[in-house]
Amino acid sequence: MAYIEPAPLLDKENPFEAMMTRFHTASQILGLEEEIYNVLKVPARQVIVSLPITMDDGSIRVFEGYRVIHSTILGPSKGGIRFDPHVNIDEVKALAAWMTWKCAVVDIPYGGAKGGVTCNPREMSAGEIERLMRAYTLAMIDIFGADKDIPAPDMGTGPREMAWLMDEYSRTQGMTVNAVVTGKPIVLGGSLGRTEATGRGVMVSALAAMEKLKINPYKATCAVQGFGNVGSWAARLLAERGLKVQAVSDLGGAYYNENGIDIEAAVRYRDANKGSLEGFKEAQRISGGDILTLPVDVLVPAATEDVITASNAGKIQAKLIVEGANGPTSSKADSVIYEKGISVVPDILANAGGVTVSYFEWVQNRLGYKWTADRVNRRSDRIMKDAFDNVYKTAVDYKVSLRIAAYMVAIDKVAKTYKYRGGF
Ligand code: GLU
Repeated sequence: MAYIEPAPLLDKENPFEAMMTRFHTASQILGLEEEIYNVLKVPARQVIVSLPITMDDGSIRVFEGYRVIHSTILGPSKGGIRFDPHVNIDEVKALAAWMTWKCAVVDIPYGGAKGGVTCNPREMSAGEIERLMRAYTLAMIDIFGADKDIPAPDMGTGPREMAWLMDEYSRTQGMTVNAVVTGKPIVLGGSLGRTEATGRGVMVSALAAMEKLKINPYKATCAVQGFGNVGSWAARLLAERGLKVQAVSDLGGAYYNENGIDIEAAVRYRDANKGSLEGFKEAQRISGGDILTLPVDVLVPAATEDVITASNAGKIQAKLIVEGANGPTSSKADSVIYEKGISVVPDILANAGGVTVSYFEWVQNRLGYKWTADRVNRRSDRIMKDAFDNVYKTAVDYKVSLRIAAYMVAIDKVAKTYKYRGGF
């Protein structure tokens, strides 16, 4: 068969380049020493494995799995595992670096990592996914560890997969090690508040930004792209705080209702419809791309990378963008958005509520103790609010965007820690 060159993805940006562009800008403003820049720009470790899995029909399929540890300067590396057909090493490298910056922005003692397997969990049975997760865990047995590298859920994985990971890891150690992974089911040592934590942090940082922008939440409208864990919780919690969520979307379509969407009804519909909004009747179906350019006050991209690009950024009407996803805005879109006067609470700040409660889960596991939901929420809200204030102040002091300010806060913290610890 003739080799056909894939069509170039028009103005698509490699996520690693998108991360590097901001890292470079922030490092220059900080006056970061070249030696430290060179340390931080590359991942500390990259592992690629082949995972042969017996499928339900008896055939064997080989999946490719990754774990990238970007940095362990602040502590054990932390970051989720993504099961998605688009996973590739460049994406995992970018996501791992984003975890380093994210943990540093919210000031929790972790480095950054990310894992992934190129697969489509939507087309796999529970048994196939379990075998894949267990095989991935065994392949990473020397990488993972409660004091070394602590995975968590990301796109395509959740508490169920984390339970399999914990169980497989524990078998190899001959004892239960629940602190090796976070985002577990509550009965296995998961933390109350972890499921909604990322969406909750999006809500807290959105409200903090709205206060600065003098947007009244009770008069504000909102659109949320992505209706997985992050998007649906963000939508629900923003609606609870008074915002009118006029549009939501997922792979099953985008849905708009001028009078506001009943988020509880949308969640019930999704859960009864194999996790998809496809066919949701209580709103009008619009084209998927249009959700980003609706005349709303607040836009929450909570799906995937690189959805706001130089070609659609000019059409965005929102006054505030709060990034629930990792890397939803391409670096080329940054200047268009900045010049339009739109404020952006960047991913490494806005979605850091998830890893913050992961940290609390790990702390509880190590203490052998359980916190109440109220304690978890109060502490994570305070961390998110403090991080927002710190980034906001840096943005004002240096006259830069919140995104560049967040990178500056993060890079400065990691660089200072590196200097104290000393290089080899
Ligand atoms: N996957 C989530 C993220 O991108 C959570 C990571 C974690 O809790 O370790 O932030």
